[in-house]
Amino acid sequence: MSKPIEFKGYALTDPTKWTDLKVIEFQPKTFQADDVELTITHCGVCGSDVHTLTQGWGDAKLPLVAGHEIVGLVTRVGDNVKEFKPGDRVGVGAQIGSCLSCRACKDGYENYCLQAISTYNAEYPDGVVTQGGYSTAIRAHQQFVFPIPKEIDSVHAASMLCAGLTVYSPLKTHGCGPGKKVGIVGIGGLGHYAVLWAKAMGAEVYAFTHDDSKVDDIKKMGADHIVNTQKKEFWKDYPQTFDILLSTRDVMGDKMPLGDFLSMLYVHGRFITVGLPDSDDPLPSLHAFDFTSNGCLVGGGHIGSKQECLEMLELARSKGIKPWVEEMPMHDVGKALQNVHDNKVRYRYVLTQDLA
Ligand SMILES: [Zn+2]
Ligand SMILES: [Zn+2]
Repeated sequence: MSKPIEFKGYALTDPTKWTDLKVIEFQPKTFQADDVELTITHCGVCGSDVHTLTQGWGDAKLPLVAGHEIVGLVTRVGDNVKEFKPGDRVGVGAQIGSCLSCRACKDGYENYCLQAISTYNAEYPDGVVTQGGYSTAIRAHQQFVFPIPKEIDSVHAASMLCAGLTVYSPLKTHGCGPGKKVGIVGIGGLGHYAVLWAKAMGAEVYAFTHDDSKVDDIKKMGADHIVNTQKKEFWKDYPQTFDILLSTRDVMGDKMPLGDFLSMLYVHGRFITVGLPDSDDPLPSLHAFDFTSNGCLVGGGHIGSKQECLEMLELARSKGIKPWVEEMPMHDVGKALQNVHDNKVRYRYVLTQDLA
């Protein structure tokens, strides 16, 4: 018998020093028959981690280990688990639990379950606080564990499990495919995945960015067109054009011309937002007129289901899609977080294990 897993991680202990994480030991989820335990090898750094650690979405439960783009190796499975065995390479994303019995869960929309449990900064019914992937190990119900195809490297798979899935799910749901014009708004971690997936799904892809320094990268990612949102009234060049506009912006501010974005949608086109700004940063207000010229719809998304995650991994495997990521040792997490906060990341950081 190998020695028991130690659960240690880089935790926020003082919200005023949100990039200065301290190594702590923590109590994992109470192990149950449907659970899978894994030792973590890789964890991506998500914008959600920054919003949570800076308290932008409210007070965090301290001490808190963030990180929800996790890949590792299975060390233990419960009696009900048939899909996985010790040694398998698997992943865990931003969600780690749901009721599994409500209408949404039964319909394969467990990511919309009203009792969904987030991978960190949430609480299990028995009071154990969930801790994320900037750590040595994690336990998860098997529904929230994903097998990683052998053709996809762990460093590439990690950030697919939140960033990748969060944009794959709405692209799939809203009909991205051949013959569709799809605009991706904001080309960061999520947006770069959206360009890669939408292109692989066969759509004509337009990337919206205000950042000229990203133009060469975006072309290499495969976007067919690049729209510079610094150009005055750029929306006037694309009346009734897009079937889907997928926004990954996580800052709205006063300058987001939402009504003008809607004017670029084709008839019954959909503006879908997956970026989640801070609590005090609402969507800009709209007028009923904004919906009448094209009958457009506005919506959102929340991560994705296991079924969608498996489809996404198969798309990446079959088409050989690799995300644009930079590796860092896990102890550099503070630097990675600061760069994500400052918009300096190209296009995702993936931390490699150095505690275990
Ligand atoms: Zn995330
Ligand atoms: Zn449910």
